[in-house]
Amino acid sequence: MNEEIPKYIIPASEAESMAKSRGLTVPQLLPFLVKSAQDIARVPISNFHVGAVGLGSDGRIFFGGNIEFPGLPLNHSIHAEQFLITNLAAHGGGPKLLYIAVSAAPCGHCRQFLQELRGISDTQIVITDQPQENPDYKPISSILPDAFGPFDLLDHDMPLILEKHENELLLVDYSLYSHNEKTSKLPNGYTELVKENEKNLEKEALAAARASHAPYSGCPSGVALMDCEGKVYKGSYMESAAYNPSMMPVQAALVAYMVAGGGGYERIVAAVLVEKEGMMVRQEDTARLMLKNVSPKCELKVIYCT
Ligand SMILES: [Zn+2]
Repeated sequence: MNEEIPKYIIPASEAESMAKSRGLTVPQLLPFLVKSAQDIARVPISNFHVGAVGLGSDGRIFFGGNIEFPGLPLNHSIHAEQFLITNLAAHGGGPKLLYIAVSAAPCGHCRQFLQELRGISDTQIVITDQPQENPDYKPISSILPDAFGPFDLLDHDMPLILEKHENELLLVDYSLYSHNEKTSKLPNGYTELVKENEKNLEKEALAAARASHAPYSGCPSGVALMDCEGKVYKGSYMESAAYNPSMMPVQAALVAYMVAGGGGYERIVAAVLVEKEGMMVRQEDTARLMLKNVSPKCELKVIYCT
């Protein structure tokens, strides 16, 4: 790959020195990084590059861009703010999001998705394409007043996105319940690679399901992807109180893949989805559709848990 891998994270010490060298504070630096966040975007449908840059409470800077999937309905798209939150979640989850700079005004979907973060109303946001010369930070609560959010449905002590989730899940006897696609479509060489890494893929998908945020449906799920070198990337399902803005586990795993420098989707050769069997909310069909679209040779295995 000749193209430069875009930046997805800046460590705290580097963020400090970047800001200092320009005579800025770190929050003041964020708007200057929005352009490089826009370079993350993969937007073959709209060609509208959205970039989001966030400052975590641990001093790290996180990036996100919007991702579109030709051939699929638009609701499979990943918004830049969702990418950013998934990036935070993929890197320890712990930090709160204190500041966010976005290239364009967040859509209603993203304003709603952000409500799944505790204390988000105080997070400061700046929109860089606005007409005034020096756009200022303002609290998220000012762009979504009278918000509907998690605590309209949940107790206040329930963990939210970026907080530790430990869903107690166990794999059922998957020799009975797994739905394997035939491995024959995998190119020569990959079948062995998948076999070698199968246990690790299953373990990582289960870990992703255990960490998923599914308090509204009670249907946790997680996906692990493997590339053609045997590297594994995992993503957890993250629900929204308003349902539709939820982040599906395949999308979350694709973000983890991109953030780790995974390259083109066609390099993804195997995937495992862990979810509960026969529940009201199921990911299997949509995960299969997405993977078939982005990497037709990818094998998806579904394992049920209880
Ligand atoms: Zn959006």
